[in-house]
Amino acid sequence: MATHASPSLGKVTLVGAGPGDPELLTLKAVKAIANATVLLVDDLVNEAVLAHAQPEARIVYVGKRGGCASTPQAFIEKLMLSEALRGEQVVRLKGGDPFVFGRGGEEVEALQAAGIAVEVVNGITAGLAAMGSLNVPLTHREHAHGVVFVTGHAKPGDSGTDWVTLAHTAHQAKLTLVIYMGVIGAAGIQSALLQGLPGDTPVAIVQNASLPTQRHATATLATLHATLQREHLGSPSVIVVGQVLQGLQAAMNAPHSALHQLQR
Ligand code: SAH
Repeated sequence: MATHASPSLGKVTLVGAGPGDPELLTLKAVKAIANATVLLVDDLVNEAVLAHAQPEARIVYVGKRGGCASTPQAFIEKLMLSEALRGEQVVRLKGGDPFVFGRGGEEVEALQAAGIAVEVVNGITAGLAAMGSLNVPLTHREHAHGVVFVTGHAKPGDSGTDWVTLAHTAHQAKLTLVIYMGVIGAAGIQSALLQGLPGDTPVAIVQNASLPTQRHATATLATLHATLQREHLGSPSVIVVGQVLQGLQAAMNAPHSALHQLQR
């Protein structure tokens, strides 16, 4: 049944704050932040984006910075609801895109069930920013017919991603894998993926994509975990696996080739 929000109620806008670089905010996100009377801010949202908020807006950190290990999702949903019911213009700021591993779907369901108007403003998801910063595409007419955004961290009690099936599919269908939250489980992900993808499949690990602190390493599937450890790459990172990265590896092996040619 469709729910119709009463005009006296506030509204909730789920806003993607992008991967970190505040210049990667959309104009729509900037407007929503500027109109908000209450902002509920996740971890991984760059504080700099809050410069667009009204000085009198109430800012609530609901990630680890908020004090607790991580504010329970049920509490966040309750807070969004109660603030909207009080007539507030609530912005729920999430890293990247609210609908890519951001639990945005659960929040939309909770708000719609309560008859609260909800709008979603997309953000640039970390995987896109990571590859953009390396000048590597996610799809390529020769090397990758599609992309899979996949999580390395399942909900407790869930058996999680079937990496072996995914590896076979990615190999046969020429898909790029963009793995979020995969650093902690990288050793297991690597060994499962190796059951369906060749060991020399190119890999890139990008930490803090789009931020001045960005670092990355290239590897192969066979050396993924060893490379993560050797380079001390930690969260937040995306791990990208696929033949689209072969050009990057070639460029890394001959970083000055163009310069050499010019100097000749
Ligand atoms: N909604 C977010 C993803 C949230 S899940 C988005 O669309 O980007 C959190 C995971 O996203 C992190 O564990 C990491 O895998 C990835 N991530 C978020 N920001 C990142 C960044 N700046 N660089 C690399 N990975 C990032």
